[in-house]
Amino acid sequence: MNKNDIVYNLNDNVIMKKSHACGTNLWKITRTGVDVKIKCLNCNREIMMDRLEFQKKLKKVIKDEEVK
Ligand SMILES: [Zn+2]
Repeated sequence: MNKNDIVYNLNDNVIMKKSHACGTNLWKITRTGVDVKIKCLNCNREIMMDRLEFQKKLKKVIKDEEVK
């Protein structure tokens, strides 16, 4: 599977290549589209970046880890 074809959806938990300043590297996708917004699950800060940048920085999507 092509690394650039990682499938991600709204509310997925993701791990980025670089940790947040607070030391946590677990995020939730809170918005998808041309821009992607992710929220740090430790400090609840949200950051937004464009989709291409997000895909470049994304390391892993965590599936079925969270009960809604
Ligand atoms: Zn944080």
